[in-house]
Amino acid sequence: MAKKAVLLLIALVFLSSSDLADPTYIPDFGHIVILVHDVSPAYYPELRQLTDLIETYGLQNQTYLFVIPNHGGSGDMSHHPEFVAFLRSLAEKGYHVELHGYDHIGNEFDCDAEEAEIKVDLGLEELESLGFTPKYFIPPRYSLSKSALKVLLSHNLTVIGRDFIYFPDGIQKPIVNREYTWYTPDPLVEYQLMSAEETYRSVRGTFFLSLHPRAANTRSGLEFFREFFEFLQTRFPDP
Ligand SMILES: [Zn+2]
Repeated sequence: MAKKAVLLLIALVFLSSSDLADPTYIPDFGHIVILVHDVSPAYYPELRQLTDLIETYGLQNQTYLFVIPNHGGSGDMSHHPEFVAFLRSLAEKGYHVELHGYDHIGNEFDCDAEEAEIKVDLGLEELESLGFTPKYFIPPRYSLSKSALKVLLSHNLTVIGRDFIYFPDGIQKPIVNREYTWYTPDPLVEYQLMSAEETYRSVRGTFFLSLHPRAANTRSGLEFFREFFEFLQTRFPDP
């Protein structure tokens, strides 16, 4: 790469990692937590590919799977026994199974308290009937009304947003939550990688790495994870 381009890259990385304020360290998560959004039978092949990669680097204990119990209103998870068995096998390996809305249609948790109550009850009941007890919740599209947030916290769920985490006791703290693999074009991988590594190095709190199946499963997305997980292993053998 030409010298000028390298300097520009370094400047961009610096700019993107210089606004880290004072993010929170979450003891349950440690230095890094991987948030897999949109876990549903619709992405079964993609999720298998991603979890294979996560396990290669022994990161399953750091990985939280945010499940949509009734994706797009297409029917409850219990109608997909093969996928439920897959989730159970992941939980046995150390993955955490959590809740990501109920049907994920529109901004479903940007709603009033009554509707939020119905949806969270349906979602929790479905996952609990399959043997999972979620502790964390990510609202679909990070869209959340104040009344819905109150309802979620009253169910003893900790809510993770784009920039904040909300605990059931009402405390709210800033987080560094980044996603580098949204159909990443090949020429951007190197930049995304430098940016992720620099951010991870600078964050004093917990680094939240978000990903969406399919958007992350491009050739460059998978390359990003291989290299970033390799970096985590060599630099911090015990993340
Ligand atoms: Zn989602």
